[in-house]
Amino acid sequence: MELEKFEEFFRQFYEQDLLAAASKGKKSISVDFSLLDKFDFKLADKLLNDPENVLQTAREAISNMDLPGGELEIEPRFKNLPERFNIRIRNLRSEHIGKFVSLDGVVRRASEVKPEVKIAIYQCPECGNKMEIEQKERFLTPPIRCDNPECGRKGGFVLMDRKLFDSRWVFIEEPFEIVTGERPGEVSIYIKGDLTDPEMQRKMDPGNRLKINGVVKEIKRIRRGKMRTQMDIYVEANYVEPTEIEWEEVVITPEDEEKIKELAKDPEVYNKLVASIAPSIYGMDKIKEAIALQLFGGVPHNLPDKTKIRGDVHVLLIGDPSTGKSQLLKLISSIIPRGKYVAGKGATAAGLTATVVKDEEFGGGWMLEAGAMVLANKGILAVDEFDKMSKDDQIAMHEGLEQQTVSVAKASIIATLPAQVSVLAGCNPKFFRFDPYRPIAEQLDIPDTLLARFDLKFALKDIPDKKMDEKLATHILETRLKPSRVEPLISPEFLRKYIAYARKNCKPKMLREAAERLKNFYIDMRSLYSGEETVAITLRQNEALMRLAEAAAKIRLSDKVEISDAERAISIMRFSIQELGYDYETGKIDIDRTEGVSASQRSKIHTILDIIDMLEKKIGKPVPKEEIVAAAEDQGIKAGTAEELLRRLKAEGSIFEPKLNYIERIR
Ligand SMILES: [Zn+2]
Repeated sequence: MELEKFEEFFRQFYEQDLLAAASKGKKSISVDFSLLDKFDFKLADKLLNDPENVLQTAREAISNMDLPGGELEIEPRFKNLPERFNIRIRNLRSEHIGKFVSLDGVVRRASEVKPEVKIAIYQCPECGNKMEIEQKERFLTPPIRCDNPECGRKGGFVLMDRKLFDSRWVFIEEPFEIVTGERPGEVSIYIKGDLTDPEMQRKMDPGNRLKINGVVKEIKRIRRGKMRTQMDIYVEANYVEPTEIEWEEVVITPEDEEKIKELAKDPEVYNKLVASIAPSIYGMDKIKEAIALQLFGGVPHNLPDKTKIRGDVHVLLIGDPSTGKSQLLKLISSIIPRGKYVAGKGATAAGLTATVVKDEEFGGGWMLEAGAMVLANKGILAVDEFDKMSKDDQIAMHEGLEQQTVSVAKASIIATLPAQVSVLAGCNPKFFRFDPYRPIAEQLDIPDTLLARFDLKFALKDIPDKKMDEKLATHILETRLKPSRVEPLISPEFLRKYIAYARKNCKPKMLREAAERLKNFYIDMRSLYSGEETVAITLRQNEALMRLAEAAAKIRLSDKVEISDAERAISIMRFSIQELGYDYETGKIDIDRTEGVSASQRSKIHTILDIIDMLEKKIGKPVPKEEIVAAAEDQGIKAGTAEELLRRLKAEGSIFEPKLNYIERIR
């Protein structure tokens, strides 16, 4: 009955497809479920509720059609399942076992493709009967008894032949936009047949986003011959479709477009954007401007020699604890599609880039696991505690940030995964807190080569400043009293649409004047800093300037990068360089101006700190205050001045007083 129905269905709607598949040696066709539903809703319903058996019937129906190509089996793969069968990964339950479901997810890990026994042919030693046994378990399973009714022997069957097919396991996790702060749900997917062909294999490598229709099954776990009562479930894929959700998929109505164009013409657009980025965090306007440029991004370029220049802007925030850095990182990653926030080592074994792990669960081969950078492909990745990443990641990060790919070559796995990401990283100074008396460039625990890949670097210093503290406290108080005050000028939804629209429609070209302006600034900067060893002004900064200027033009939705855009890029770049303790005007380290301490005072502070260091080594921590003052007097610093400087160092958090009149340094 069902068999005839299917034959009729395939004849009516898929004869051409099946003939084409058979003549090309293709092993599957995709079948539109909604067509089957219209053709016979009862049959369609049965497929959803008893897929294992109904799929088998559908296969038989196809083989009954006597297609050219003889033995070839063609698998029907069903797309467009009804919406209600789309299940969130974390909601998969025992009630779904044996049912057809549809899942959305991002591939986190994938095993190698391996041949597997599909059908084993056993012979009965008693009567010579041959039995084809389909293999559904992880170990070869012989028949229980001979199916020759006149024989009926139990056990002792001889394995005569096997039919093989290729299979693979992938693990998908819930996509970012539905996961808010929770750990994403994960499920194993079993893939076989032509879904493991090289082209499909690439599409299912880690980092790819997929829609998977398949049958929910249970993994029977056998331990010491006994089956455990607790079961794991997995999904055997029937249909797989790559589904990249990108900026392009943000829905923009004609009314939105009007509003976007209007805002882009507003001379206040940059200020409005800055005011709308993380409004709950006070100040940091230059940093927020940089992040605004990062969100829009520059234009990727392909040079004639096939060199690719990225359009993505990378920003590094180096900050004292409690400067709101982490809060900012979290907020930014939530603004855009495919935004991801990770802290420290990336919160997984795969770290930030990718790794190859031993496959403990299935088959015992190797598995490729994607890290945060790959999973955030085509989005933005906020990495907190960037300085804490593993050495492997640190090396791989060079490639990730510049080439925007992550290559892995370990064990039997060689792969290059996509990582087109803008990175917004946050890290702490080397000694936990900034030492306000040393150049910031000396206080970073990140290799220069990696540092150079960030277009912009900013320092967030937690230095007591009465005026600033007052403003900040007022801001916090006001946000509590009147939450509407922190409502952004531009809503997050509209901001997302604006960015998506600009990214899609705007590829501004650099005007000659703007390019000249950038070039002159770059050359000036090069000559100014040529003497300094720690600041390397290289071609990378020149590229960064161009990217930033392009991003500035994109915010205006302009198709030309004008002088004003170049000026904006220069002003941010100059601020970023000065942040690191260099003065653009003199090319010298200028702590006096950035910290508000005179040079003679600074040298006295250094003397005091050196004395504390020396005494800590000599007599141990903490050091009696009177010893410090006495040693300072020996070096020509008056007792009153020494005490004043100690008070100041304490206020700035460079030292503390663990007990009365005893001093210890904070590192
Ligand atoms: Zn027999």
